[in-house]
Amino acid sequence: MEHKLIIMSINEIYDCVTSGMNWLTIYGGCTYAGIMLSNFPSLKFSKKIRTQQELDFVVEEESHKLGLKNIRGILANKGKCHGLAYIGEDGTPTIEVGGLYASKSGVRHELYHHYKDHCNPMKENWFPEAKYWFVEEPLACLYQTFRIKI
Ligand SMILES: [Zn+2]
Repeated sequence: MEHKLIIMSINEIYDCVTSGMNWLTIYGGCTYAGIMLSNFPSLKFSKKIRTQQELDFVVEEESHKLGLKNIRGILANKGKCHGLAYIGEDGTPTIEVGGLYASKSGVRHELYHHYKDHCNPMKENWFPEAKYWFVEEPLACLYQTFRIKI
């Protein structure tokens, strides 16, 4: 009986690893882009919020789904796509929405940042920019569009 030894040369291993990484990059990149872009149709087709009263109602309703309480909603008139989540000076968790974000979907997105405690200034934060773009923002988009809580 003949034994065949399968020995991969360093070059072959390198090729496998790089092609694996290329696939990961392509699929990872597409998934990332897909998640980040998914929020646009979600915003576009979501119910628009036109008054402060409507916003208060939606904030209350969507907060309840996340188990959040006492979130202040501000309807801001600041451009086409304005969405913010922060802790106000008085310590009140606040969201600001305007333009395309003045919708149920936009409110969901910003509330998710409070749900995951993304706005807590006391939280340890390494590489805040990278964390925002690659962790916090995609997760908020996932919840906003698909209501998936991770
Ligand atoms: Zn966000």
